Amino acid sequence: MKYDLVVIGGGPAGLMATLQAAEKGRQVLLLEKNKRLGVKLLISGGGRCNITNDIPDYRVLAKSYGPAAKFLLPIFSRFGVSEIKEFFENRKLALKTEPDNKVFPESNLATDILAVFVKGITTAGGTIRTECEVKDFIIQNNLIEKIILHSGEEISATRFLIATGGKSYSATGSSGDAYRWLKQLGHTITPLYPGLAPILANNQGLKELEGLSLSAVRLKLASGQKEIAIEDGPIIFTASGLSGPAALNISRFLDFNQYQSFVLRLDFQPELTLEDLDKLLINLFAKDNKFVKNSLEEIVPARLAVFILKILGINENIKAKIITRVERKKILESIKDFKVTINNFSDYDKAMITVGGLSLKEVDAKTMRSKIISNLYLAGEVLDIAGPTGGFNLQIAWSTGFIAGND
Ligand SMILES: Cc1cc2nc3c(=O)[nH]c(=O)nc-3n(C[C@H](O)[C@H](O)[C@H](O)COP(=O)(O)OP(=O)(O)OC[C@H]3O[C@@H](n4cnc5c(N)ncnc54)[C@H](O)[C@@H]3O)c2cc1C
Repeated sequence: MKYDLVVIGGGPAGLMATLQAAEKGRQVLLLEKNKRLGVKLLISGGGRCNITNDIPDYRVLAKSYGPAAKFLLPIFSRFGVSEIKEFFENRKLALKTEPDNKVFPESNLATDILAVFVKGITTAGGTIRTECEVKDFIIQNNLIEKIILHSGEEISATRFLIATGGKSYSATGSSGDAYRWLKQLGHTITPLYPGLAPILANNQGLKELEGLSLSAVRLKLASGQKEIAIEDGPIIFTASGLSGPAALNISRFLDFNQYQSFVLRLDFQPELTLEDLDKLLINLFAKDNKFVKNSLEEIVPARLAVFILKILGINENIKAKIITRVERKKILESIKDFKVTINNFSDYDKAMITVGGLSLKEVDAKTMRSKIISNLYLAGEVLDIAGPTGGFNLQIAWSTGFIAGND
């Protein structure tokens, strides 16, 4: 039997494409190597599945993806946030938007999201096969003729869609198989690295802050003289460095393929200018007879105050009044410009996404069709698109899967 479309990968992108094609009356086969569909989808958002971020204007939404924004405009104009919300609501799945704009199923269950697709695909007559790992492609006249499974079975189709995801959290099944295939097919894979991953800090002693979370920090990433990214938001200190939304988001720019090392500068008081904070410190230190540690606690959390004094070699139990101008300037710098050095990638198995992937120059955004192999389609994280945390990466899977499945 020859299918109209074979979809490789039963994650959110493959599920959406399969459903769209099946509902158009196509003979579609979805192949997933795991026993279960959507393993990564099921652990997303801590099992609650943050399906998107409630940004109705597709132009604003596209800007969240940096260099991929232009490519995404025609995609989001057809299938963006309003459309994915409508898609689930039309299928009787209630959604809720939390105050930080993140959209979840009202039930808080990622399994409910998966169930929408399984029901939709089977009702529309699509075929799902799990425990089917695609191993290779047979090409003829620059077209994919067949795929070969690990079992040796060959499957023919008119069109093929690769939706195998990236290579992070490989235990979920996304082990980066497609990068090799795509290179063999003549495609370009841009440099890959782990994204939305905890930051490994090189600083001695930072471990002392493990567990401390701060709700509003400004992070500035640079390599040498080059300013690379700025991110505002919450962070948490970990045993090996930093995590939390702002740290995870800025990790998308830690491209060690391009730079050897990075400096991350933390501003613990982004609302105050350097001058205003200096005036505040002068007043605080002169005000009453407190220990310097207690005065500083009015500006930063107690653990951070003690840590800053320790690394500066200032006795925390001296009176604030006797802090010298030079010491005050050092304290000021530690609050406004605390430097963390980063010399290495985090582990892919701790990264929510893979940054880099199939070059967007080689994909037609109107159809998600390859510009090199005309019966090949691409969708989801395998593409060179990396969004921040907060539902942006699943939105890529839904939108690109929708376009590919409807061509
Ligand atoms: C812990 C965690 C939490 C996350 N939370 C969120 C969140 O709340 N919101 C959000 O927007 N994003 C979140 N993400 C990111 C998001 O889950 C991914 O971007 C998204 O799943 C990518 O979808 P995809 O369909 O492209 O690929 P995947 O979900 O990776 O699916 C690819 C599928 O292809 C299958 N496959 C691979 N190779 C083969 C092969 N050779 N043959 C057959 N099948 C194959 C895999 O088994 C897998 O099931 C999270 C990621 C992680 C790791």
